[in-house]
Amino acid sequence: MSYPVRGEEPAVVEALKVRALPEGSCDRLLEFLRLYRDAVQSVVDRIWGFDEGLFKKKLHRLFYSDLVKLGLRAHHAKEVYLYARSLVESARGNGGRKPVLRRLSARVDKYDYKLDLDDMTLTLKLHSNYEVRLRLVTSRERVEKFRGWSNYELVVKYDGESFWVSIYFRRAVRTVKPRTIMSIDLNFDNVTLAVFALSGRLLKLKRFKTPHRKVLTHRIWIWIERIQGRYPRSWRFVKGVRRAIERHGERIRNISWDCIHKLGDLVAELALKYCSIIVLEDLEKLRENGRRDKKFNKRLGLWFYRRVQFCVEYEARERGLKVVKVDPRGTSSRCPRCGGRLFEDGYRVLRCRKCSFIGDRDVIATVNLYRKYVSKYPRCGVPGVALNAPEPDEVPSGMRGNGYEAMKTTSIYMNLYES
Ligand SMILES: [Zn+2]
Repeated sequence: MSYPVRGEEPAVVEALKVRALPEGSCDRLLEFLRLYRDAVQSVVDRIWGFDEGLFKKKLHRLFYSDLVKLGLRAHHAKEVYLYARSLVESARGNGGRKPVLRRLSARVDKYDYKLDLDDMTLTLKLHSNYEVRLRLVTSRERVEKFRGWSNYELVVKYDGESFWVSIYFRRAVRTVKPRTIMSIDLNFDNVTLAVFALSGRLLKLKRFKTPHRKVLTHRIWIWIERIQGRYPRSWRFVKGVRRAIERHGERIRNISWDCIHKLGDLVAELALKYCSIIVLEDLEKLRENGRRDKKFNKRLGLWFYRRVQFCVEYEARERGLKVVKVDPRGTSSRCPRCGGRLFEDGYRVLRCRKCSFIGDRDVIATVNLYRKYVSKYPRCGVPGVALNAPEPDEVPSGMRGNGYEAMKTTSIYMNLYES
């Protein structure tokens, strides 16, 4: 899991979760985990009935010396009562019962462990001055990523068979001052993006293929289409069908995760090159509106949108770029020139009956997303400024003859920018 952190300085936090092998006996480590769990439980038991606020100072006064007497180190004690407080607060927050801890896991402060990335080892300071050294079972490449990041906390767990550690790393990012706006439209088959200058001028248009169609083996694909054909409306409610789709869906998820990651990387690199604010469709709104892509089933579809967005967002924030979301309502049904209704006019091509504008569906969506962003945040761009015609050499080279005829680049330009 990884996520950008909001706060004084923008930072990215990411956890490295790996299996860890204790060198020698694991008795002390297990002993520590039991002690820790029971200590958390005893604090939970005592503060569960408290009415007044659970301030850190007060918790410290109430529990610190008792916890240290158990053999816990100073920072162990702090982690124990803070963890107990967070458990109590979240249980109360959702109206639950008093938490009862069964699993063996402990949160450890950075002062109580030493991480050696060269050696791939971790030394944990346990109760009563014991120490244990653990070997991290993972590839060097995975660890290498975190060189230069600062580690600040870890969680060690025992699942009955092995030990696992999640080490949290943090890295500050410098924010990039936005100079352009990149709007992104997602489809099952491709990701279309457009970069606009603050003046409204189109700087770049690009389309990336998504791996989804490819990773669905031909057989699964045909099978899903057949199922959907046989149960045009109700297939989602047929239990067996649903389960089978979930099964195959799982497979698609596994294969394509890596590809989506690369896609997010490519998009963010391009956004960095243009110093863009990234404009994405707001998926929550999308759900309310119903999806335009009726051809593909919602379950896989929505999963895909989430993943791609997550990766784009994550990679962008890592590079100090801003990401905003706008309501996608109407972005693929309204004419970007006159606002009239658009009608399908061939494969992925839309036409406006009012002003006879014609263009690629996905490109229209990016233009409309950009427009929505500009009207929502007028200070970041210039609202109401007509898009200027790009110079001929601004037609992105990546789009020439790469099999995306449906994009009809020239006709989009001609129709969108002449008037
Ligand atoms: Zn129109």
